[in-house]
Amino acid sequence: MAEPTQIADILSLTALTPHTTELVLRPIEQPVSFRPGQWVSLQLPVGDHPPLNRAYSLAEPPSPTGHLTLVFDHVPGGKGSGYLSSLKPGDRIPLSGPYGHFTLPDPDSKNLLLIGRYSGLVPLRCMIRSLARQGPLPSTTLIAQAPSPAEQLYHEEFITLAASQPSFCYLPLVNEDPTNNATTVAAIKQIAVKGRNVTPMIAGIKSFARPLRTFFMELGFDRREVKLETYD
Ligand SMILES: Cc1cc2nc3c(=O)[nH]c(=O)nc-3n(C[C@H](O)[C@H](O)[C@H](O)COP(=O)(O)OP(=O)(O)OC[C@H]3O[C@@H](n4cnc5c(N)ncnc54)[C@H](O)[C@@H]3O)c2cc1C
Repeated sequence: MAEPTQIADILSLTALTPHTTELVLRPIEQPVSFRPGQWVSLQLPVGDHPPLNRAYSLAEPPSPTGHLTLVFDHVPGGKGSGYLSSLKPGDRIPLSGPYGHFTLPDPDSKNLLLIGRYSGLVPLRCMIRSLARQGPLPSTTLIAQAPSPAEQLYHEEFITLAASQPSFCYLPLVNEDPTNNATTVAAIKQIAVKGRNVTPMIAGIKSFARPLRTFFMELGFDRREVKLETYD
């Protein structure tokens, strides 16, 4: 069934890094009930044939307030992200959702291996926060790639979580070129080659995510065992 479109109030815009912004929205008609890893579609009044539909993953697990937290990076020349950057508290935008199947596997899945680049970390962060709310995290490794040290999204938060939860391992990597996956592949080899008892989930742009899925398949994983969320 199609999800109805409704209007949402913009509550706040907060810079998280020089080129990413957190956007908090309040749907005014009905609550959006979602699972961590899912996304909403924003209908933006820009582009050659408005509305321009753009997908944004939810960054915070569901809360009693019903507020939705999104995070977007400012894509150079990007119509949608450029428009979002111009919004102010009190503005309104139509949205629909939730959508998507990039969600946590069943609770018996062991050794989550979450891999994200830049804003691809957003759905993974939502999952991690949701798991952390429920108690000690299951064994989870997060490989987080950023385009520069200043753009390491949620870096301090993940460091703090890793310090308090022995089952959470945070591996931050900085790499300007999304297609240069050597350090990420080396980290995966360390973790996944020991045994196939990991559950890989990868999010980011295709040039980052797809070669990593291919690498897992070379290690012997079935294509369906590697969950992927691509952004472009
Ligand atoms: C399921 C899903 C979830 C998503 N979640 C998020 C999210 O949580 N946060 C977020 O910031 N984005 C997310 N995206 C991407 C988002 O929907 C937009 O594609 C992105 O903001 C760029 O849109 P734009 O209109 O600004 O750029 P466009 O005007 O569409 O593109 C401008 C140029 O940038 C390139 N480009 C497009 N997208 C990207 C990108 N993400 N990175 C680098 N270059 C790009 C295009 O190829 C084009 O050349 C998600 C996409 C999908 C499909």
